[in-house]
Amino acid sequence: MTGQPAFVVAIDGPAASGKGTLARKIAEHYGLAHLDTGALYRAVAFKVLENGANPEDLEAALAASAALDADLLQSEALRTDQVGKAASVVAAMPEVRAAILDYQRNFATNPPAGLRGAVLDGRDIGTVVCPDARVKFFITATVDARTDRRFKELADRGLPVTRDEVKQDLVARDRRDAERDISPLRQDAHAHLLDTTKLSIEAAFAAVRAIIDETL
Ligand code: C5P
Repeated sequence: MTGQPAFVVAIDGPAASGKGTLARKIAEHYGLAHLDTGALYRAVAFKVLENGANPEDLEAALAASAALDADLLQSEALRTDQVGKAASVVAAMPEVRAAILDYQRNFATNPPAGLRGAVLDGRDIGTVVCPDARVKFFITATVDARTDRRFKELADRGLPVTRDEVKQDLVARDRRDAERDISPLRQDAHAHLLDTTKLSIEAAFAAVRAIIDETL
């Protein structure tokens, strides 16, 4: 610890908006640690499903969130639509969110490997997890653009889904995330809005870099 507060970048947005890719690129460019907070909810959901429990089962979800396994966060097994859907169910439980909150805040204030700051991406980073973040973004895109991206990603990995199924799942998940009582997905008043529908990854990254550079 240097005594300097960590430089925190908060990135929120709906599924497949491009926020994860942007978060990784920002972390790499500025030498910051990166936490994909969706992976935490996915890991809880994965454990619940692996134990044969129902994602609606609070006891099962709480047990899984208490035994969060950091190694699991990088696993490809978390990246299926089924796990994403179950993640948005456990993510609506206040007790699960409370269990995961400390992990996220600790990562932001004490980034690993002595790095000077961290990028966190999710749904409630600017609003709840890191309200004092130095820079906040809200990344979005139309449902069709997001469906195309997610469909391509799943198809490239050989997962058997149709575009219609992907779209239905995205819409249902967005609705659950935006309408839940606790930490719903919404743009923080201080977040910069970026619509990536018509932007390449490079163009989107140039736009966020320009904003971050102004605050350095
Ligand atoms: O971003 P990703 O699609 O991996 O997130 C999976 C689910 O985890 C989301 O649909 C959302 O319900 C939940 N989540 C959340 N808060 C976050 C990150 C993810 O509720 N900060």
